[in-house]
Amino acid sequence: MARGWVRDYYAAKLKELVERGEIWEIRRLMGPTGPRAVVEGREFIMLSTNNYLNLANDPRLKRAAIEAIEKYGWGPGAVWAIAGYPELMAELERKVAEFKRTEAALVFPTGYATNVGSIPAIVDQGDIIVSDELNHGSIIDGIRLSRAEKIIYKHCDLADLEDKLRQVHKKYNKILIITDGVFSMDGDIAPLDGITKLADEFNAMVYVDDAHGEGVLGEGRGSPAHYGVEDKVDFHMGTFSKALGSTGGMIGSDRDIIEYIRNRARSWLLSTGFPPAVVAANIKALEIVMTEKERIRKLWENREYFKKGLDELGFNTGKSQTPIIPAIIGDTKKTRELAKMLYDMGIFVVPIVYPMVARGTERIRNEVSAGHTKEDLDRALSAYEKAGRSLGII
Ligand code: PMP
Repeated sequence: MARGWVRDYYAAKLKELVERGEIWEIRRLMGPTGPRAVVEGREFIMLSTNNYLNLANDPRLKRAAIEAIEKYGWGPGAVWAIAGYPELMAELERKVAEFKRTEAALVFPTGYATNVGSIPAIVDQGDIIVSDELNHGSIIDGIRLSRAEKIIYKHCDLADLEDKLRQVHKKYNKILIITDGVFSMDGDIAPLDGITKLADEFNAMVYVDDAHGEGVLGEGRGSPAHYGVEDKVDFHMGTFSKALGSTGGMIGSDRDIIEYIRNRARSWLLSTGFPPAVVAANIKALEIVMTEKERIRKLWENREYFKKGLDELGFNTGKSQTPIIPAIIGDTKKTRELAKMLYDMGIFVVPIVYPMVARGTERIRNEVSAGHTKEDLDRALSAYEKAGRSLGII
């Protein structure tokens, strides 16, 4: 038991969070997640997962995992560097390289671990990172853990990026531009064509976190493929936790670079990897994403339908260009009320408020999947209409 004063201190801190409404109410699913999910015996339309291609509960991933458990058992034993990894992992690394169209690839325990491990391995003291202002928190943490300096450019603003590159040009050993491929709260796409051109001009390296672009853009290959600039991206980072329906992170690059990262990334060397079952499921997920284009087509059909529906109702969907479709409300209390009303009507959404997004841009982030039916989306839109009208949002 914690000391009395320790308990009191954190109880007071927690109370502050509760009073500011900065607390997560975690829902308990009674079965698999998918386009629908069951909570407390009620079925919800799920609009809060990154399960874009509806693979999280795919029978082929489950089967691959079960077979791997039978053969390799459950636990990994220790960190991969020390205990070794199942022979299947070499196949997974090859598959990731094939997927990212790179020479080699490395798989991490999570996407978060990929960024916090790879970025400090790539840059050091004397280097500078040029980072988009809306980059994901795991990139921000990776930058903090590196000994490089950083400079932030305005969101997707090529003129500002050029300005920042001009400022730092020739003053550092190396320049690393980092961007999300697709931004997780707004669903807009980084201008990788312009970014890679500027990188050529200023002799900078480019690192793309494509967590939300993989399986979605460029015939499933991601945002660099969407722009046809795969060869101009030095570091292709991604995760199995979104469209690939699983868990684990990845980075693709040239062979020597990958071996260097493997031997320098602390989150690879110091944190135990996922079980063999996940290795097997991830191989299957990559095979499906590279071959089943119909899923991607369906995802986009659903995305167009839902975005058009929200726009026509009068909601502000911001700059969304992908299956991430926010309804931007711009007020914490109203966003919470809207989320609660939608939830009560069977729509699984959560309010996204400060510090996850800037104050004044509070929102509900909707994410559609290839598995939603028209009826699911219509039910969600009709709930949005009712709740939006009753709260005076639309
Ligand atoms: N990068 C981005 C852009 C993300 O949205 C996420 C997921 N929250 C991550 C990295 C981290 O990935 P993971 O959840 O697999 O750790």
